[in-house]
Amino acid sequence: MKEYKTQGAILKHAPELDDEDVQALNKCYIPYLFYKEINGVQHCSCSSCHESFEVSYIDRTVTPEQRDFLDAGHNQHVHCPKCGRLVQKKQKGIARSCRKLWEYQRAVFIKPVSKNEVYVLYVWSTKDYRKYGSVIPVGEYMDYTTNPEYEVNAVYYITPNQQRCFIRNPWSRQHQFEEQKIKEPFIKSWWYNTTAWKRGYVTIGDDRLKNTFLQYYDDKKITDCYVNIYKELFRYSCYGAIEFPYCTALCRFAKYPSLEWLAKQGYDDFVFFMLRDGIEAHTLFDWQAKTPFKFFKTLSTQETKELRSDGRLKRYGVSEYMKYKRLLPGITISQYSWICENVQHKDRFLQTLKKYGLKIKVLIKYFSKSRMKVSDVTLWLDYVETAENIKFDLSVHNVLFPKNLELAHNEAVAISNALEIEREKESLQDKSNPYSKKYKKLCDMYSFENGAYKVVVPLGASHIVEEGKTLQYCVGAYADRHINGKTTILFVRLCKKEDVPLLTVEINDKTKKVIQVHGLKNRNPDKVEQSFIDMWLEYIVLPKSKKKAVKAA
Ligand SMILES: [Zn+2]
Ligand SMILES: [Zn+2]
Repeated sequence: MKEYKTQGAILKHAPELDDEDVQALNKCYIPYLFYKEINGVQHCSCSSCHESFEVSYIDRTVTPEQRDFLDAGHNQHVHCPKCGRLVQKKQKGIARSCRKLWEYQRAVFIKPVSKNEVYVLYVWSTKDYRKYGSVIPVGEYMDYTTNPEYEVNAVYYITPNQQRCFIRNPWSRQHQFEEQKIKEPFIKSWWYNTTAWKRGYVTIGDDRLKNTFLQYYDDKKITDCYVNIYKELFRYSCYGAIEFPYCTALCRFAKYPSLEWLAKQGYDDFVFFMLRDGIEAHTLFDWQAKTPFKFFKTLSTQETKELRSDGRLKRYGVSEYMKYKRLLPGITISQYSWICENVQHKDRFLQTLKKYGLKIKVLIKYFSKSRMKVSDVTLWLDYVETAENIKFDLSVHNVLFPKNLELAHNEAVAISNALEIEREKESLQDKSNPYSKKYKKLCDMYSFENGAYKVVVPLGASHIVEEGKTLQYCVGAYADRHINGKTTILFVRLCKKEDVPLLTVEINDKTKKVIQVHGLKNRNPDKVEQSFIDMWLEYIVLPKSKKKAVKAA
């Protein structure tokens, strides 16, 4: 048996839909039983089985079933006595032109032509009971037992050696077929995505695969794999039915024999991503392989087993494991698992490891020794980065791995912040610093002290952030707004301890009214503090000359 190669030959030999196909397509439409009652006789036509028949009241031997059938009226459901299907009764006089019964379907037909050649035809179909006679009868008339109309819009030619896909181009002049890489047969328009209530397509004749090379295509298993991962990925955005890419699935199944056992053995995400993306990543996977050990080209049998039992044998996990193997030679699966479970910032983690020439087992030992939490790896990374900035000697083991990580982290951050504030103070001398001018203005306007308390103007953004951290409330968000001039933040402190945060004041620069004052954990000022603030508020609204007099005094 010679396979067709050219588009012309493949399309020319594509089978047509036969009577069985068209009947199956017809059954996809909503079934109606059209009837007209004349003198106690209901003249019926079933749109599903196309039988026309009569049921009458006059019969002396009316059965209870016939009685139910006759008593049912327009729009009620009955079983068609010919095909047994549940159908909706439509009285011809009421349904009239059946304009509202117009309907469409998308359908895919499996049409094998030999054991190793399967055609898949995608059709767009419509059903309209209105007909327009041009000879006799002239004009509009009804055909209650009409067949649906259809147009083949995509043809797939699937063999073990080639999987071809031809789709009509709706924009070309004669809607010509154009060869495409394997994909689904119709484009999802804006209308489809927003308002169409019929999703996907029906498949007809998939039982015909059983005499072909695709006989082991297990629709249930493959669909399950796809749906499982789809639901996992789109947990919060998946409404209604999931559209399974059946045409694509058949093509890929023909091309990649591994899909059969991958689906059977529960490698769901390998199946899903192969159907969705079609990416082989052939340096990692051999899609022709018949066993997992051959399939995972870069893994040893032992690695395959261990990764599988750790649940880490995933489509996009293998390349990551290979990356770690390259960067951390000799890494074991359990060490790799530890990283996957505990490290949130993998790149930072790897960089730090590399920079200090650390072995992964040293780190795991450090973190398992003390009772540290999962988030502590991030804490340690933060610590190391901060310690670098303030020039700690990290070549000393106890500095790199402090006994009390949290304490060491907080100390390093405090030192780093103090240095940062020092830098801000220096940069206020720099005229190109946009905050310098505002700082000077604020000092002239608000600086004040009474011997016990004083008002301090922030040196810069980190000064405000530090204030918020020390007083344990969220003023950090105000730092930028203060620097940009959108609000004004000031500190009230003890003259004796002017470096220690005490109260934070937000003031309206125009009205000179306090917006809020807070101390440690949002506490309010006490009586003494409040009287200082009141005194200060009286002072700042004085004219300049009087201010000088107060200051001199
Ligand atoms: Zn019934
Ligand atoms: Zn019927």
